[in-house]
Formats: sequence, C-alpha cells, structure tokens
Amino acid sequence: MMSPTSKSTFMVFVLLFASMVKAEEKMPSCATDGEVAAIMKFLTLQSSDEITTQRGVSDCSRESAVGPALGGIAFMSKFDPLPSLKRSIDQNIIGPSPTRFFLSRAKTIQFVGEYEGECRQDVNGGYVAGYVSPPNPTVYVCRKSSELDAFDMASVFLHEARHVEGYGHATCLRGIFRGLKGCDERYGDKGSYAVETEYYLRLSLHPNISPALKASTRFMGIAELWGRFNKYPIDIRGRLILQEKSSAIYILDNNKVTVNSSQGDAVLVKMNDTHAFIDQQNKTVKSFFAGQWSDTLGVLAQDLREGKLDVGADKIIDMFYGDAYSCVLTNRKLICKANTSGAYASTEIRNMNPVGFIYVSSTKLVQSKTPYVVGQDGYLYRMPLDYETLKSQGESSFTKTKQKYPYKKIVTVPAVPGEFVLTIEGQVLHTPGGSKNLKPVKELEGKIFRSIAPVDLWSEELNDFL
Ligand SMILES: [Zn+2]
Repeated sequence: MMSPTSKSTFMVFVLLFASMVKAEEKMPSCATDGEVAAIMKFLTLQSSDEITTQRGVSDCSRESAVGPALGGIAFMSKFDPLPSLKRSIDQNIIGPSPTRFFLSRAKTIQFVGEYEGECRQDVNGGYVAGYVSPPNPTVYVCRKSSELDAFDMASVFLHEARHVEGYGHATCLRGIFRGLKGCDERYGDKGSYAVETEYYLRLSLHPNISPALKASTRFMGIAELWGRFNKYPIDIRGRLILQEKSSAIYILDNNKVTVNSSQGDAVLVKMNDTHAFIDQQNKTVKSFFAGQWSDTLGVLAQDLREGKLDVGADKIIDMFYGDAYSCVLTNRKLICKANTSGAYASTEIRNMNPVGFIYVSSTKLVQSKTPYVVGQDGYLYRMPLDYETLKSQGESSFTKTKQKYPYKKIVTVPAVPGEFVLTIEGQVLHTPGGSKNLKPVKELEGKIFRSIAPVDLWSEELNDFL
C-alpha cells in the first residue's frame, strides 16, 4: 500500500447535515455483478481494510465501504450523459460523461481502514470520506463512507478525480467549515467543489431521476454553492419560515414577508438545519427543499411512516435530531431513539406541560448543545446528554432551569446574523448583532405564531439557471 503524506493529500469532508437531507435513498445502492465486472475492467480495486477485504467486492452491507463505492460508480454511469445547465453557472468541467471524467483520472480504488491515513482525521461536523495523493491516480476510500448514498459517493469520486490533477483547497472563511481547509476560493476556479456542485445540479435535471432524488441533488448543489466557496457565486440566502396560530405559513426573507400556502394542522418543526411539517393524520413528515416538497428525512420520520414509531392517539408537538439520541415530543410523552443502537425509550411526562424542544448547536441565549423540553410554565427542562440516563431515569433526569426564559423556540438562519426566538406567547424576537438583547421583528409584530424554523437555503437566481 502507498503511504500518502498528509502534506500532499486532499480529502473530501462530508457534511453531517447532508446525510440528514436524504429523501428516499437510504438503502445501500449496490452495483450488480455485471456492473462490478464492468467497473473492474477499468479500475483496480485494492484494500488495506480488514472488513472490506473479508467482505469482498460483492458486499452490499453498510459494514464495508465497497457497496456504496461500487454502487456510486454504477450510479455515475447510469445517469450518463448528464444534461447541461443554463448560462454561466455551467462551467462544463465534467463534460458530457461523468464516468469518462472519473476514469480518465482515477485508475485504482483503495479501501482503507477507519484509522488509516487521512481517514482518522477528526473533522468538526463531518468526516473524511476519501482522499488522494496526487499525481498518484489512486482514490483512497475511507470506511466511514459506507454511510453514504450512491449519488454522494459518485460526487466524492468526481471531487477526488479533480484533486488527482493537482487542484487543492482553500481555508473556509465562514460557515460550518470555517477555519478548515474544506473550501475553494471561487466557483470559477473550477476546483473539486465546483465539480461536485456541477454534478449535483446537472444530475437534478436528468430526465430519469426520481422526484425525491431530484430534490436531494438540487438541495446538495445549493448547499455546495453556499458552503464551499469563499465568494458566493450567486445570490443565496437563508430564510425563516413561520407558522401562524391560524396555521398560515409566513416566510421572512431579508425584511420581506410573504404568505405561503397553509399546511393545515401539520406541525412545523426544525430538523437539523432545515424545517419539516409533520402531518398528524397521515404520520408523514415533509420538507421543502430547494423549491420542491419532498418526503422526509431522517430516522424518526421514516420510523413514523413505517409504524416503527407509534405515538398512538397523542398529538405530536415537536421533534429533534441530536448527537446521542433523537426524540419526538407529544402532549404527554417523550419518545427517544438512541442514535447508535436504534433502541427506543418512551417517557411519560407528568410534572410539566410540554410545548416544544429547544435544541440549537450554538446559541448565546441558553447553554448550547443541550436539548431542552420547554414547559408552558416558562421554564426550560434540560435533558441529559446521554441516552442511558434518559432511558433509566425518565422525566426525573430533567433539570429545571432556575429562572424563566421567554423562549419556545430558538433558531438561527444561514446568512442572517443573530438568533430568532419564538416566545411562549407567540411573538417573534431577534437578537441583532450577536447580543442577548431581544427585539421584536418589526415585520411580524402584532401576529401570534405557533412555530418557527429556518428554511432551506434559497436562491431565486438559481431558479433561472435550472
Ligand atoms: Zn477535496
């Protein structure tokens, strides 16, 4: 095995939020025997990872990275050739055939162990999926990438293929990768992230793509444009979505308020960095991505739809996805799933009247990284950080804050400084300039809201290009 030095390697970090925004594609997408045989005509497969070696090239589990990797290449050739984008957003780096782009740059795929080479790098908010050591035409695939879907894996390969040519990265000046070497300076530099972006956006226009995948790839394309370039190539913004007491939906975009179609009794919740509506009757969870509705997302929503998570006759109030566990809150119960084991624990709530969760990864207003259940009484009930304590001690593991807080929801919106707060009474407040000083949002004054959530990244301008 080659021993790449960290000086000359380039890797791709995978965003954790990206893995949450997948629609229907969570099943391993594996290559067929025929596809594997075709891939092996052009590529040499090597492995220095025990699990991958043991499982062999036909493995389709999530334990080794083989299934997603070969599935990724098969996926790439299935949607080949790619349609073009309109106007200047399309730099046509990949050319008509993504498979040809990849195979003319990469000759070997080497599967490497979890703690080998660049794979062991700890990346805040993500992990290393693969790397190369240019000009060596070998793409090293980390075992962690077994969590990826075929279309993400295809984009990892195209990204790495660009690195083989010597394209590097810049330090991110903002966003979740701020300070890390996970960005390109400009989209126009045509580096690895421009390749990924182009791939996602062009893929979203493919005539044979499913609606769910169309929504996901389009969202990923916008997320790349937003998060991977130090200079925004187009006008992209984050917006705040609000559900009025009467159930009307409002969107706040740069001091402009628009009213959108009502979602009836569906509950608006914040899910990671986006929002979703939970339909009480149908037990479905839907999100609006990049201009389209798509069935959602994440384990709780899936379990709810498949009946593995049963809330009975309870009314769902809120939902969150956390680091150790993820929970659904009903009017009388807290049902949480451990992220590692997948086990569920249900806790009756008897001593308080729950109205929602506050779960923000960074906020100046309350102690961050801790999930809270918000009580109608105005107190926050801090939940334990580990699932075992929550499971064994239930409601008695909550710690009630000493003082009252006027918060039912706290959210941050990409590209908008400060934090937005929904008070128990239903008013929307904002902390301008990163202070703790809460001021009413003028455009929303006089209205009473049930819930607020950040909208997915939005680009009016991008619509013109697709
Ligand atoms: Zn890279």
